Formats: sequence, structure tokens, C-alpha cells
Amino acid sequence: MQVPAPFEYRRASSVDEALTLLESLGEEARVIAGGHSLLPMMKLRLARPEYLIDINDLDDLDYLRVEGDELRVGALTRHRALLESELVGRYFPIVQDAERVIADPPVRNRGTIGGSLCQADPSEDLSAVCTALRAVAVVRGRAGVRAVPMAEFYRGPYETAVGAAEMLVEIRLLILPEAGSAYEKVERKAGDWAVAAAGVALALREGRIDRAGIGLAALGGSTVSMVRAEEALTGRQPTEETFAEAGRITAEDCDPVTDGRGTAAYKRHLAGELTVRALRRAAERAGAASRTARAA
Ligand SMILES: Cc1cc2nc3c(=O)[nH]c(=O)nc-3n(C[C@H](O)[C@H](O)[C@H](O)COP(=O)(O)OP(=O)(O)OC[C@H]3O[C@@H](n4cnc5c(N)ncnc54)[C@H](O)[C@@H]3O)c2cc1C
Repeated sequence: MQVPAPFEYRRASSVDEALTLLESLGEEARVIAGGHSLLPMMKLRLARPEYLIDINDLDDLDYLRVEGDELRVGALTRHRALLESELVGRYFPIVQDAERVIADPPVRNRGTIGGSLCQADPSEDLSAVCTALRAVAVVRGRAGVRAVPMAEFYRGPYETAVGAAEMLVEIRLLILPEAGSAYEKVERKAGDWAVAAAGVALALREGRIDRAGIGLAALGGSTVSMVRAEEALTGRQPTEETFAEAGRITAEDCDPVTDGRGTAAYKRHLAGELTVRALRRAAERAGAASRTARAA
């Protein structure tokens, strides 16, 4: 039987209390949200926190709302809420593409977006999605709040910009007109971690790509955007030729490793192909969004 090392358990009743506990208990304290990444690591003794601070009572971190031109997502929002949200489906279909292939209902009922991003597993689907969407992570400590763009959020595998006495409290997604997004994943069996996955977000203007974001999962040491491929898309028309070039650059620039899920060469091939498929679908959705906007 896999049993975690001994730990003390605290249940926070407010964000302030959780932050005070994190500060006073020091580096050996860890926040627990859904527990679907942390508990397996503790059982395997890959993580041995001395204190667990349970944040599941912090209902004020569980929300999805539009403010100005942003969708704001509380860090404690569960996978299931993202999958079922009409707002998320309307503005960011990439999130629901990904949620449909993340694990299974028991994991989706408890796992949170905050836990997914803070786990910083290079295979984490929502990390790739938020990278493609150029999300902004709102991080809170006792000294105040800071906004961290996804490009600066990951410091390496399993390492983020969130400090020991800080918490991720919100994820902000910019709502753009004429925008479309999509996520493509290859997995060995339903609900498995990705062999490889690519997420794409496009915004069009006057028939050309005005802004492009690409985020990959399981194709490098951490989730990073594909800057060169994004630049190759920007200003171009959304054609098959443009997509093929972005796919070729993505395959060149990703950094997969050979493991039980496949060889590096196979994963590199998938990186290119999945990027092209996601681009096609994102462009179709962006076109549909602009037609709807014109008809309104
Ligand atoms: C069987 C199984 C299959 C899975 N398959 C997939 C899959 O296909 N794709 C995929 O992407 N994921 C998959 N997952 C992971 C799942 O999505 C987890 O829910 C998610 O990775 C972590 O979310 P959590 O809320 O459970 O985080 P937890 O396990 O509670 O925490 C994870 C880490 O984040 C930290 N943390 C949590 N919340 C915060 C916060 N607000 N601020 C600061 N730090 C925080 C914790 O301290 C911990 O270090 C799978 C998990 C399981 C068990």
C-alpha cells in the first residue's frame, strides 16, 4: 500500500488565512486543492510536505465571470465547471476541447485549474491551453498581488513563478473579436496524459492573422509558447500553406524526449501535425465568430 509520509493538516477559511499559514509554516507547507496531482506524489514519496493547507472552503476562488474584455477564472474552478460553462464554450472553445480529454469524471470533479497550472507538469493540458491563450496568472502574497503573463509563469518542469508564501488566485483570459481556438491531443487511451498535444489561439483582422498563440503539452521540459511559429503566422492569411509552415517550425522548435509514450521523432511529427489541425479548426471558429459578429 502506498502511504504518504506523516503531515499536519490545516483547513483555511479565507485566502488571507491560507497566506498567513503559508508564511508562518515556511517552505515545508503546501496548498492542496483537488489533490489529484499532489496526493499521488505524496503516496509515491516524491513530495513530502510537513503541512497541507486545504483551500477547498475558499468559495471566493471558485468563479467564472466576464469583466470588461476578460474572462476571469478563479483558481479553485474545477475542470468540470470549465467543461460545462457556456461562457467558456462561447469565448474559449480550446478549453473545452482540452477538458473533454483530461482524465475522467472523478478527476474532473475535484481537480482545479489552479492546481493544474501550479503543478507545472510538462504534460498538463491546461498549461498548454493557457500558454496558447496568453493568459495572465494573478498571484497573491501577503505583500500584495502581481500579474504574471504565462510566458513568465513556468520556470521549468514542476516549477512556477508562484513563491513559497504565495498563491495563484485567478487566471485572466483576453476576449478578442474574430477569435478562434482549438486543442488537439494524441493519447494512448481515453483520459490518459498526452503523448503529444497542441493548442492554438488565433485572432483575425481583415482576413489576416492579427495574433497567434501556440502552446504544447508533453513536447518539452516545460510548457512554452512557440514564438517563431507564432511570428510566422502573424500578418498572414489563414491558408493551408501558412498552417503547414507553422507546423513545420513547431516540429523543429519543440523538444520531445523518447519515453514509454513514444519516440522523440514520433512526437516531433505529432507536434507539426497537431498544430496544423488545431490551426485549421481555430481558423474555422474565428471565421464563424466574425460572421456572427457581422450578423448581430
Ligand atoms: C488518473 C489521473 C489522470 C489525469 N490525467 C490528466 C490528463 O490527461 N491531463 C491533465 O492535464 N491532467 C491530468 N491529471 C491531473 C489533474 O488534471 C489534476 O487535477 C491537476 O493536475 C491538479 O489539480 P488539483 O486541483 O488536483 O491540484 P493539487 O493536486 O491539489 O495541487 C497540485 C500542485 O499545485 C499546488 N496548488 C494547487 N492550487 C494552488 C494555488 N491556488 N496556488 C498555488 N499552488 C497551488 C499544490 O500545492 C501542488 O503543488 C490526471 C490526474 C489523475 C489522478
